[in-house]
Amino acid sequence: MAALYLDRMTWLQISESIRSGWNTIIVPFGSTEQHGRHLPLGTDSVLGDELGWRLAERLDAFVAPTLRFGCSDHHLFFTGTISLSQDTFRSVVNDVVGSLCKHGFKRIILLPTHGGNFQPLRQALKKLGPTGEARILAFTDLQGLMGTAFKSSGSFGVDPAKSGAHSGEWETSIMLALRPGQVDMERASEGFVGDIAEVMAKIATGLENIDKHGVIGDPRMAKAEAGRQYVEDMVDYLYQWVNGQQGEE
Ligand SMILES: [Zn+2]
Repeated sequence: MAALYLDRMTWLQISESIRSGWNTIIVPFGSTEQHGRHLPLGTDSVLGDELGWRLAERLDAFVAPTLRFGCSDHHLFFTGTISLSQDTFRSVVNDVVGSLCKHGFKRIILLPTHGGNFQPLRQALKKLGPTGEARILAFTDLQGLMGTAFKSSGSFGVDPAKSGAHSGEWETSIMLALRPGQVDMERASEGFVGDIAEVMAKIATGLENIDKHGVIGDPRMAKAEAGRQYVEDMVDYLYQWVNGQQGEE
């Protein structure tokens, strides 16, 4: 079990590795967006880096650098957020896949780790050019991912509203596990913990209209121990998803 970091290798090493059977690559799609007052803007990209290489280890695959910008228009009220338009995002997906298809990869796994990237990724897939012998596996099941997240946090006694969809207990626990030095628990405060239907109804108007600090969930109950388990559960879930896709061939 090993992962190869594409951007730490020479073209010759990459070429030789592909020829010797390393023909899968994972491309994570993160974001640079606000995550409340207690988490850094790179949170979704950290998740992309970590899930990307952990999944690559399980699959003996390459992992590409995480795309650190995503579709984050609904967070632009908050300072520092950088957002791509959906058109730009679709073009980036197209260009990344188009580039990788030239090099002999047989399987290209597209892995969004930010909620706002799922819908534009689905749309991008419809417009992909010819991919040659490469098979594109795009993870587009946001509900499945959230279901896995809430099942994991439920095993630690946290209900879904507090586990949260953005910067709540779930994401904060993961950051306490992965990047504890970047978490400011003194600034963690309860965000929106009401009905998720209300979030869906208002999200397009901006997250500031749901919670003034940009949090959905309650990060105060986050724990590193839980975060380590959440990461494991997600990698298991993604690994099974990849294997399920193989079964459909
Ligand atoms: Zn996030």
